[in-house]
Amino acid sequence: MEAKPGLIFDVQRFSLHDGPGIRTVVFFKGCPLRCRWCQNPEGLLPFPEIAFQAERCINVRACLRACPRDAIVYPAEKDDCAPNTAKRIRRAACDRCGLCVAACPSGALRAVGQYYSVDELSAEVLRDQPFYRASGGGVTASGGEAMLQTEFLIPFFRRCKELGIHTALETCGQVGWERLVGVLPFCDLVLFDVKAIDPTRHRQLTGHENSQILDNLRRLVADGIQIIPRVPLIPTLTTTPQNLDDIAIFLQSLGLTVVHLLPYHRLGEDKIHRLDSPLLPLSLPDLSLDEVTMMADRFRQAGLTAISLHGS
Ligand code: SF4
Ligand code: SF4
Repeated sequence: MEAKPGLIFDVQRFSLHDGPGIRTVVFFKGCPLRCRWCQNPEGLLPFPEIAFQAERCINVRACLRACPRDAIVYPAEKDDCAPNTAKRIRRAACDRCGLCVAACPSGALRAVGQYYSVDELSAEVLRDQPFYRASGGGVTASGGEAMLQTEFLIPFFRRCKELGIHTALETCGQVGWERLVGVLPFCDLVLFDVKAIDPTRHRQLTGHENSQILDNLRRLVADGIQIIPRVPLIPTLTTTPQNLDDIAIFLQSLGLTVVHLLPYHRLGEDKIHRLDSPLLPLSLPDLSLDEVTMMADRFRQAGLTAISLHGS
């Protein structure tokens, strides 16, 4: 029986930060968390969306004529598009039919999220198999949260294994254990995000408390699954000494020896405006190398090898 299609919002080739070697990262759409710093806001909702990039608009009003639902909001005649406005689309009226995207000659309107069959996505990632072989790389399922689409992820990973491709899952951990168990036989490595240990703090940062996340991490470790925990370093949010020490002690107590650190950057914040996302841009300052080194030292003091993935 043909597997359910997967809803994917990006496929990035030649990644060096999402598992060993050169990797193709597949971004699954839909996520149960709402991390305040999320760099992939287009990955949050579990359905295709229409993004509007105002700076690409050439003002020919093709979208206005194409929309059958009166969902396009346009500046008055002769007005230029206001820069950085996401208000080209009245989201409440839009049914995401995509007719405006097809009509737009400049790419200012774009569909975010595309359905793939297992055959299609496998063919896409197979293009890079020579690079995987040469570097010890493979495919990483990221997002959003790939575990929300296990009906697609499992047959996709199974196919990767049949093709001899290394598989890694990057997860926020906010998923039922029974879902995780189904994926593990086809997954070589789990990259597991750890954002906060204190449940109240975790809820403030992500919209969700963390008991299921930490339980899943404990169980994965107890089952001998190969895991690398990943800690986002978000200034003032996750980088308080207390939070970093709590995470370091927790990971050390599980017997984990390596942690990857993901320093904050602002690259995802432009995307927030294009989607009418509920997230707000944080516009925090980037961390300096010295600051990241000091944070890494807190993990080293707990006996962990801390590797900072700059530019990830
Ligand atoms: S996706 Fe369809 S309904 Fe929505 S704004 Fe575009 S044309 Fe209108
Ligand atoms: S878990 Fe990842 S994709 Fe989901 S909201 Fe947090 S940062 Fe974004």
